[in-house]
Amino acid sequence: MPTVLWFRRDLRLRDLPALLDAAQGDGEVLACYVLDPRLHRSSGPRRLRYLHDALRDLRDQLDGRLLVTHGRPEERIPTVAKRVDASAVHVSDDFTPFGRRRDDAVRRALGDIPLEASGSPYLVSPGRITKADGTPYKVFSPFFNAWRRHGWRAPAPTGAATARWIDPEQMAGELRGDIPDDDVALDIPSGERAALQQWTTFVADGLEGYADDRNRPDLDVTSRMSAHLKFGSIHPRTMAGDLGRGTGAQAYLRELAFRDFYAAVLHEWPHSLWWNWNTGFDAIRVDEGAAAEKLFDAWKEGRTGFPIVDAGMRQLAETGWMHNRVRMIVASFLVKDLHLPWQWGARWFLEQLVDGDMANNQHGWQWTAGCGTDAAPFFRVFNPSTQGATFDPDGTYVRRWVPELRRVADVHALGADRPDGYPAPIVDHALERAEALRRYAEIG
Ligand code: FAD
Repeated sequence: MPTVLWFRRDLRLRDLPALLDAAQGDGEVLACYVLDPRLHRSSGPRRLRYLHDALRDLRDQLDGRLLVTHGRPEERIPTVAKRVDASAVHVSDDFTPFGRRRDDAVRRALGDIPLEASGSPYLVSPGRITKADGTPYKVFSPFFNAWRRHGWRAPAPTGAATARWIDPEQMAGELRGDIPDDDVALDIPSGERAALQQWTTFVADGLEGYADDRNRPDLDVTSRMSAHLKFGSIHPRTMAGDLGRGTGAQAYLRELAFRDFYAAVLHEWPHSLWWNWNTGFDAIRVDEGAAAEKLFDAWKEGRTGFPIVDAGMRQLAETGWMHNRVRMIVASFLVKDLHLPWQWGARWFLEQLVDGDMANNQHGWQWTAGCGTDAAPFFRVFNPSTQGATFDPDGTYVRRWVPELRRVADVHALGADRPDGYPAPIVDHALERAEALRRYAEIG
């Protein structure tokens, strides 16, 4: 009997265990993607563009034999499965709180047709790595050691050749939908073929220098694989298999472990999506109201008067991506210099980022705000000028994104040469640092 392969965060044909399972039996498979209106509301324009382009790439690779249907999965998937008389619906497992709820609803609606999950978007799936007493890790380093000891499977063999793809043209017209066009631009190409190309280039040219230079936003040395990983255009297993043993490889693997760690943390504590993981922070005073909104607007627009913060925020607004070190700096600034709720910043990031990922983003924010697992201690307040001078020593990054400062000699120590048109600092860092520490002491 035919099966349905329902794509979600695994928009690829290589290294895809769910495809191998779907193609067992007589090999007749209907490839399907459901454009869920809830994702349209929450994804942000750049992620939608990435998604739509990646779907086009997948459809091209399948010679058009990808059914794209619009609606709620718990309505669409059972209808599609019954239409092709499917024996099962195959998916890669999704561990996010939203994915879990959606899959439970689909499983119920499918009735006798099983929803079979194989594989996940991670090297080691959430829930697999626990302490000896069975409880989850709350600190990254011991998780990382256990994660390395646990290991992961070799890439799954590519199974596309064994599947006989069902032509979606035979489905009723009302089930077939278009892949929307978007008018927002992306600064990276999307989809499986682009991901493989990007990865091959990074391994050849970037991996060696990664350990030394990954914190330098001026050098463009990181892999830019985050959006590809977010949508599963490539599996991290494929990437781990190419890494080798050098220091760059070890440093890179550690970042992939962070990705697995945050997915595991969110899986274990789903409330940490929008609530402090460490509830001890629930009582910390944050600013809200009109004055706070005004500071928030300046932060979003990259008009804080702190060059490294403004460069990051403008890079984000213009491209949908920001270097990791700068994400940490701008997040720290929002929480500890502006005293705004981390959730405001997290929501803005999710609106803008092409790689916006619930686990990485929310826990990246919580780490910076001091309320997450393993968090940066709250009393360590980043000084934006020192951070800028350390990680963007020549000011190349700032000048790239803040044109007003292109002619300034030392962009990280603006004094009298602050040019007209570039804002004065919206806060006094030394005073706000002291204020942040005061608020922290109140809950300590
Ligand atoms: P590389 O340095 O090449 O890293 C390789 C891969 O490792 C990344 O693609 C990513 O999948 C993973 N990775 C790297 N750093 C981290 C990290 N700190 N935590 C978890 N995984 C990591 N990453 C996202 O993918 N989506 C987000 O929404 C996101 N939001 C963030 C918000 C904040 C406040 C912070 C501090 C970090 C956030 N990160 C997020 C993590 C990190 O900034 C990005 O993964 C990284 O900048 C992506 O660029 P890259 O692929 O060139 O990274």
